[in-house]
Amino acid sequence: MKQLRLRYILPAILLSTAIAPTAEAAEYRQAKTPLHLRTAPTAKATSVNVIPTGVYIKELGRLGDWSKVRYGAKTGYASSKYLLTEAQIGGKRFGSVLLVNKQYALKSTYAPGENVVARGEFERMKADAKKDGIHLVAFSTYRSYAYQKNLFAKYVEQDGIVKASTYSARAGRSEHQTGLAFDLGGKDSTLFAKAAFAKTKESKWLEQHAHAYGFHLRYPKGKEAETGYTYESWHYRYVGKAIASHLKLRDMTMEEYYKVVPTLH
Ligand SMILES: [Zn+2]
Repeated sequence: MKQLRLRYILPAILLSTAIAPTAEAAEYRQAKTPLHLRTAPTAKATSVNVIPTGVYIKELGRLGDWSKVRYGAKTGYASSKYLLTEAQIGGKRFGSVLLVNKQYALKSTYAPGENVVARGEFERMKADAKKDGIHLVAFSTYRSYAYQKNLFAKYVEQDGIVKASTYSARAGRSEHQTGLAFDLGGKDSTLFAKAAFAKTKESKWLEQHAHAYGFHLRYPKGKEAETGYTYESWHYRYVGKAIASHLKLRDMTMEEYYKVVPTLH
């Protein structure tokens, strides 16, 4: 009996000591501004990469004013004062994905600007769409906290708070503040952010192909109870190819996928 128990306990101990140090020490961070990833904890050290804003990286430890971080496959050092903690970002993180909705708000000071990875994928998608005779335009991407605050106030004045809340977000609760949300349109600019965009060939092309570039139709038809927003055929959220494809295949919203209960006000 004793021997049998040891046989099971030993591998378990070895396994836990091998994994625990990195798993426990790593904290998720984001760069406040595009930030150099250096080979040593000094500004004189060679920069091996630039960490963009709006992307989660892992902080493995601290050395004075420097953080040892992992960005993609690379490990190096970045200045700690330019790293944001999760509390300074807000929203809710699942793996490396930031969820923002009526329940999980961003901090007013979080201002990553337009996400460079999302922009790159959008440009690739736009070029491919063109080959199919489809003209795509990103007419609204990053929006600051202050901009959203004014926008929402304008809509409340126009329609009242109850109606405004079904189609617009309060400051901090807009995905546009993440820099990952792209409002897309086609040739006809009069249909930008209009329900009629859904019937256009551009909208149909996006519905079929956007996931292959990492974009997810964030507020689909018939999912108002989950997302808290009316159908927006133009609002796409960059989540990366794997998740976007998973959501598309299963006809799921981010709220369903991450199993978060929406608050509808
Ligand atoms: Zn939008």
